[in-house]
Amino acid sequence: MSVLPSRHAVRTSASRRGLVFAVLLGATPTAIAAQVPSSFTHADTLRGSLGPARTWWDVTFYDLHVRVNPADSTIVGWNAITYRVLQPGREMQVDLQPPLEVDSMVMGGARLEWRRDGNAFFVALPATQRPGETHTLTVHYGGRPVVAMRPPWDGGFIWRTDGRGNPWVATANQGLGASVWWPNKDHGSEEPDSQRIAITVPTPMVDVSNGRLRGVTVNDDGTTTWEWFVSSPLNNYGVAVNAGAYAHWQELYQGEAGTLTLDYWPLAQDEAAARRQWTQVPPMIRCFEHWFGPYPFYKDGFKLVEAPHLGMEHQSAVAYGNGFANGYRGTDLSGTGLGLAWDFIIIHESAHEWFANNITAKDGADLWIHESFGNYAENLYTECLTGSKEAGAEYVIGTRSRIVNDRPIIGVYGVNDEGSGDRYYKGGNMLHTLRQLVDDDERWRATLRGLNETFRHRTVTTDEVERYISSATGIPLHEFFDQYLRTTMVPVLEVRPEAGGLAYRWTNVVKGFDMPVRASVAGRPMEWIRPTQAWKSMEAPSGASMVLDPSFYVELRLVSSGGG
Ligand SMILES: [Zn+2]
Repeated sequence: MSVLPSRHAVRTSASRRGLVFAVLLGATPTAIAAQVPSSFTHADTLRGSLGPARTWWDVTFYDLHVRVNPADSTIVGWNAITYRVLQPGREMQVDLQPPLEVDSMVMGGARLEWRRDGNAFFVALPATQRPGETHTLTVHYGGRPVVAMRPPWDGGFIWRTDGRGNPWVATANQGLGASVWWPNKDHGSEEPDSQRIAITVPTPMVDVSNGRLRGVTVNDDGTTTWEWFVSSPLNNYGVAVNAGAYAHWQELYQGEAGTLTLDYWPLAQDEAAARRQWTQVPPMIRCFEHWFGPYPFYKDGFKLVEAPHLGMEHQSAVAYGNGFANGYRGTDLSGTGLGLAWDFIIIHESAHEWFANNITAKDGADLWIHESFGNYAENLYTECLTGSKEAGAEYVIGTRSRIVNDRPIIGVYGVNDEGSGDRYYKGGNMLHTLRQLVDDDERWRATLRGLNETFRHRTVTTDEVERYISSATGIPLHEFFDQYLRTTMVPVLEVRPEAGGLAYRWTNVVKGFDMPVRASVAGRPMEWIRPTQAWKSMEAPSGASMVLDPSFYVELRLVSSGGG
């Protein structure tokens, strides 16, 4: 989600930027590790790294049951964690953030002991767990969870009332983590194969969570339990409560993989507005299926759910709070006007069903895999809507003014660091530049679809994505990705006049960077040139100038003949 600073971006400090540079300059792992505590906390490491109490077990199923009490802003419930043993293990890390408290942990009828280290509970298991075995640990917990102050950019519970005075409750917890409201292995690499989410709320509140509604049970105590089931691997931060006075209708969409259910859940008070604005869903699905491949969760369906925050890519239940107006809160982030032709939250958050939910980054440092493609999808949607490739390009180029190059897009691994906010606009412009290099739209489309097919329902690293794209496009992209993801340098093409023509070369680039680029010289049509970091010459009339194709995210600098 989000294009405003996240919690992590806000607390980025000079020392952390120093750390990033140390990484770039090839500091030894020891030197890097030594610097981590100065800028990241012990809790960041427990949350963001795969410590020994996390790696030996793999979650197959979360069975989450939570009772939500708007009257006193408390929750109480349990999560039964079923896991497969990969290696022998005795201690298991389960994450749950204060002020929530664990009441008990139970396995096979026996209560287990644990030690608490901040947000992490280390559970002592009764016997060495043998590889291949499957066990279930049930964590009973409750309390008054963290209240999100500025959702969706910070996380927790949101307790509101709608315009008719009905209670309206939701969760949003990207970055901060799902453990802010339910116990789990809170690391991006871990996704259960499936999950039940049973939310109990005061009658007549309706809860809309992820996946399919399996049952509604009216209880004797004035509450109703809404049981949802997700049949696909699910990232933790995508699990959500949305409870309120909802209206509902369904539409059937004939897509690439058959019939897809589209379910719409606006507040009852907003149904008329939603029935107008949310007609943008089918063309969105059509565009993204074309470019990215089949919607990844036909079994779970697609839902749009009104939420008391701007929006979030909650898997198969996209949260929407954009006020039923086009643009991003009524404005166009590209400054071109093109972003006012569609609803930012419907387009951007739904694109995350492919890049974030289908293909999920294992480590927060690689969050560009979610957001760069999310931003780039806005460009493609502009192209789908207008039928103009140029309009799509104009949109993504327009967002370039929002790039700050404060730190590299890729963050610091192992500490739940999300890297620079440039993962949005710079990442989108990087991908748009890459499309130019591929110079074959069918191959580019096959690459985007291939990513979604190859890594379907999986968690990935930047390395895997880079290697896939290099292989699918047939272009060695090692230096290209290093340049745009791991440095803050914008490539500069230096051009200087010389006898009989122009000389040109790349500067401000990583070693080995030799990206071709389209250029027009002396007003002639655009042609490919292949600059390196050494001066190359081309013939041109005296006084000729050079213009670069603006689709490349690079800079052009004219230097005098004595320069360089
Ligand atoms: Zn996003």
